[in-house]
Amino acid sequence: MTDRQLPTPAADDAQQVSRLRARIQTGLLLLVPVVIVGGWWCPYLGFVVPVVMVMGMVGGFFRGRWVCGWACPRGSFLERIMGHLSFHLGIPHFLRNYTFRWVLFGVLMGFMVWRLSLNPGNVEHWGRVFWLMCTITSGIGIVLAVVFWPRTWCAFCPVGTFAGTVGGHKQPLQIEEGCRECRACENACPLALPIVKYKDAGELSEKDCLRCGECIAACQFDILHF
Ligand code: SF4
Ligand code: SF4
Repeated sequence: MTDRQLPTPAADDAQQVSRLRARIQTGLLLLVPVVIVGGWWCPYLGFVVPVVMVMGMVGGFFRGRWVCGWACPRGSFLERIMGHLSFHLGIPHFLRNYTFRWVLFGVLMGFMVWRLSLNPGNVEHWGRVFWLMCTITSGIGIVLAVVFWPRTWCAFCPVGTFAGTVGGHKQPLQIEEGCRECRACENACPLALPIVKYKDAGELSEKDCLRCGECIAACQFDILHF
């Protein structure tokens, strides 16, 4: 006899949310090849990049990395496409370090501002700069996805670093009593967060939680909720 519970209304809801998220991400991920390939001929496509950046950063003030989990084209591409091509070795620990991440934030933002300032009145130039940034960082993200983990890039993405810092503590994942430590939730987590480590605390104190709800859908015991 198994201790698996029968599906509850809450579990059904979580599965529906997970399917909805999959559909949204499948649509969004198409923007990645469109921008990278199409941007070679039409630099204006690069303006998708600042739109997503502003969404992620502003959204961070309200619900941490929710935009990363639900509305980022690159995150969707890495999760849904590269998830099939990854060795799944795990995300190197140092990439999650916030000192490293803020240094990288400064370097990438500084490089972007410097490149933009070289021709500040030319809109096409701005599009080309955004396109170049997107292409380089997506290339790095794809290599890291194959070698380590699909969303390794998201562990230190500058936009995610900002969003997690300003709002990652808001409305954390709640962990009810009764956890069996099966770790199905951690296996489903796009960022491989150590959920079980927080079971005694009763809530996930990880600023990088994407609020994606995949852990809730994966738990057969209705332990997790927002
Ligand atoms: S929260 Fe649920 S899925 Fe995660 S380890 Fe506990 S019982 Fe398993
Ligand atoms: S802890 Fe749950 S909600 Fe947060 S990123 Fe992981 S799977 Fe998504």
